[in-house]
Amino acid sequence: MNPREELGDLIAQAREHLRYYSELGLTHIGEKSTPAVSEQRVEDLIAKQATSTAHGAFEPKRQEPPASTIIPPPQPVTKPTITMPTKKENSTDPSLFGEPSLFGENASPAAENQYANETLEDIRRDLGDCHRCKLWSTRTNIVFGEGNPKAELMFVGEGPGADEDATGRPFVGRAGQLLTKMIEAIGLKREDVYIANVVKSRPPGNRAPESDEVKACIPFLFRQIAAIHPKLIVALGNPAMQALLDTKIGITKMRGHFQGYPRIPGIKVLPTFHPAYLLRSPDKKREAWEDLKKVRAFLRGETES
Ligand code: SF4
Repeated sequence: MNPREELGDLIAQAREHLRYYSELGLTHIGEKSTPAVSEQRVEDLIAKQATSTAHGAFEPKRQEPPASTIIPPPQPVTKPTITMPTKKENSTDPSLFGEPSLFGENASPAAENQYANETLEDIRRDLGDCHRCKLWSTRTNIVFGEGNPKAELMFVGEGPGADEDATGRPFVGRAGQLLTKMIEAIGLKREDVYIANVVKSRPPGNRAPESDEVKACIPFLFRQIAAIHPKLIVALGNPAMQALLDTKIGITKMRGHFQGYPRIPGIKVLPTFHPAYLLRSPDKKREAWEDLKKVRAFLRGETES
């Protein structure tokens, strides 16, 4: 049906409706207040509207809401970007995780190069009757470290306790006895490994070493590690792990995960709980044992770290 026929059909239908309304007695169609609309007038209106439609101009008029009810379209949400610290490539900053170094320039890996090929005896001689930090004033003995100078495995704690201070030997108190058992549990003897601490004088009251004490003392530990060149260092507890890896991340996140020792390529670090903590929290021994099994497997070449 062409538009003309369509229009005629529309008008015919309208006439039919009007006739029907007339028979019902209706004379008004549309607004209440308008006067009666004659049949002819309605026909004219319909014809006019139909003409508009035929030209595509008739569209149902959109009712615009009042300005106060207009809801603006949603704006795109920009998520905040969280950037995790990453290791800086080719950086002289020794920090493993790209944080500012805890130790400053004094302990940059380059600083160890000047001590290349020195022995543990050389390092001990250089340490002397050390007064480099305030811990000298309360100590009885310097606890330098002991064990196999060619050990594949090193254990590093945070600092000497009362028994160690009294004897000048590392890990000889109750925690030390537990450490010896841990070493033997993986098929080694205490003499096979090397044991040292981050600070070599006892912090009073068994407190954790303070940052200025760590900064003063840790270059000697770094030199010991360079001289021994172990395959693996087990970091015992939070202070030792944070000092060795130069990070502020906590032990609970890092425990049981092999890390690269940031100062010498090829040496690995495995953080685990300090034996003194295991004495206070025996329920953690199971996790420590899992870590020790990783140590054993690593030394046997059974696992990729
Ligand atoms: S803790 Fe280290 S730096 Fe401080 S006095 Fe003792 S040996 Fe020296």
